[in-house]
Parts: sequence; structure tokens; C-alpha cells
Amino acid sequence: MLMPRAGPTPDDMVAAMRGHVRADAQDKPGVYRWLSPDGEVVYIGKSKRVRSRLLSYFRCEPEEKGARIVRAASAIEWEYQPSEFAALLHELRMIKRFRPRYNVQLKRDARHYSFIKVTRGPAPKLLVVRGAGSEDGGTYFGPYMGAYRIGEAVRELNDVLGLRDCAQDVKIHFSDQQELFQLAPRTPGCIRYEVKKCLGPCIAGCASREYDAQLALAHQFLEGTSDEPLDALRRKMESASEALEFERAAHYRDKLRRLESLREQFSRLRFAVETLSFVYRVPGDGGDDRLYLIRRGRVRAECAAPKTRAERARLKAIVSEVFTPPERDTAQVATHEIDELLLLSSWFRRFPEQLAATERPDEVLGRPLPRSA
Ligand code: SF4
Repeated sequence: MLMPRAGPTPDDMVAAMRGHVRADAQDKPGVYRWLSPDGEVVYIGKSKRVRSRLLSYFRCEPEEKGARIVRAASAIEWEYQPSEFAALLHELRMIKRFRPRYNVQLKRDARHYSFIKVTRGPAPKLLVVRGAGSEDGGTYFGPYMGAYRIGEAVRELNDVLGLRDCAQDVKIHFSDQQELFQLAPRTPGCIRYEVKKCLGPCIAGCASREYDAQLALAHQFLEGTSDEPLDALRRKMESASEALEFERAAHYRDKLRRLESLREQFSRLRFAVETLSFVYRVPGDGGDDRLYLIRRGRVRAECAAPKTRAERARLKAIVSEVFTPPERDTAQVATHEIDELLLLSSWFRRFPEQLAATERPDEVLGRPLPRSA
């Protein structure tokens, strides 16, 4: 009688993966991924020396994360990159694409910076978060340095504009909601409403359009590109004063002063994204030098370092294309750009000498840009 052949044991699979690395991997920069028996990418990593890094997984103690990854996998794949920087960028893109269950290292890059997130849903609120977090939408401003100080400033901004800061699941009842006719008057039991620091969207203290108008002021304020929030308060102050309502006018004057000082605080705490705008040359493995055209904290283009006159002309054309179109200096940052921005900030924070060696676009072009980048 024929007995079915047993499949490979976990130990067989580990031995096969180790053998594959020993036989085929080289100590070059690259990105690797561990795959489960059903083809799921369970972990993606990068290293300056792929072979040594991969072999180190097989020496992990059983309770270590590396050993858990090895146990979950049945195959390893890797691809070489010209440099550690190239590997880092490629790793980020692959992680975003596959979202492997063992990858949590993006948090490492996020720890220096925080963002202000404007949540979605009825009566959105401002939250201080690190990194993009879950991709549940929302609008992000930043990055800012000093999570505690930015948290304090956001609290003030909420108070001045009357925005809520309670738990996300607090039920919202705007005064213009039909079903309110059945609601008996009540108080939210929240001190912020009592002391007029929140419009009270949970207790029909305001209509949705009133809340939205205040939220729009917060957006404009955080954008830092419009004086409208300050002008709006100034107008209210003046009209109260003309109506001889001096107490109300004084109330608006105090808010105005507080907002002016908050604006200064926000701009002082915001990391200057525009400082990450330059051409970065990275020496590559085997002479594969690459140029990265980085604008406002994002790699906008990448090419091989030019060697011929024609290649240099081509590079100038790309530099001009990337850096010439005007871009607003705004604190708002798209969710999908946050991780790359954090990665680049973290890289140049670690290697300031490399930041110092970057070239301005006009240096590469040999002439000033038509507009400032
Ligand atoms: S008044 Fe209501 S909406 Fe405003 S912070 Fe308090 S609980 Fe939240």
C-alpha cells in the first residue's frame, strides 16, 4: 500500500530558507520579504547587508520577533538596491503596498513629530497624533515638534473657536436636526459648554453650519495661509464695540490676542517642510550613483547620476520640471505623503552631513529658478 508523502516539516522549511540565503544572498543593500506558505507577505525589511541581516533571523531566540517571523514564513525573497537610502525608500513603498502584519517600524520614524488631525464625521474635532496612523481619512496638518506643546496649543485653539474635544463617540445633536423636536432640554454635563468654550454640538447648542464655520476657521488658521480667522474676530470685535457692547468687544479682543499668539506658536513648532527641498546625490553600490529630487519632503523624481553632456542636460530639464511650478507653503499634508515625509526627516536628522552635501536646484541648473522652490 502506498502511504501519502508527508509535506515538509516546519524545521525542513527553516532549513531550506537558511540554505537559500547562505547559497544565494550577498552582502549588498537591499529589501527582503518573508512569505507565508499561502503567499502572504508577512514581513518586509531592508538592510545595508542583506545576507548578514537575513542570517541573523535564524539566530533569534524563540520569543523574539525575528523567530516569530521565521516560523510564520516558508520562503524569502530579496532584491538589491544601489544604496541604503534607496533600500529605505523601496521598503517604505513595499510596506505601504503589502501592509505586512509584522511591520510596525514606521512608528520608529514617527516618534519625533506629531500632526494635527481633523477627524471626519459630524462635528469633527482636532486631535494630536503621531504619524498618519490608520488611514481612515481626515485631514492632517504638520509635522510639528513637541507633542506636549502642540497639544496645549490645540486645546487653546479649540477653546477660542468653540470646537469640541470630547471622545469621538459622543453623540452629536445639532440644533437644526429634525429629531430634536422630541428631545427635552438638557445639559451635556460638560464644563466646556458651561463656560462657553464649546459650542455644544452634543446638546443642540449650535446648528451644524455654525460648527462648520468655526471648523473652517480652524482649517484656515492651521493652514497659516489666511488671515481670515483673525479678521473675522476683528470684525466681530469692532461691530460689538460700535454697538456699545463693550463686554462682548473685550471678549473678542481677548480671543483675537490669544489666536495671534497661537499662530506664532504653531508656526514656531512646525517643522519647516520646505527645508527638505534639494537634489540629493547618493553614491551607489557598483558605481550606481543616484540622484533624488526632493521637494517639500517628498521624492518627486529619481534618476541615475549623469555622466555625459546629454544626461546632464536631461537632468536639468527634470530639475526644472520638478522645482519650477509654484507650490503653496501650507501646513496641510496629504495622508499618503506623511510616511515619506517622516522617513526623509528622520534620515537627514540621522545624517546631517548628508543634508549639508545636498545641492540646491539652482546650483544644479547653474541659474536661478524662475520662481522660488
Ligand atoms: S459640550 Fe458636548 S461636544 Fe462640547 S466638548 Fe463637551 S461633551 Fe463634547
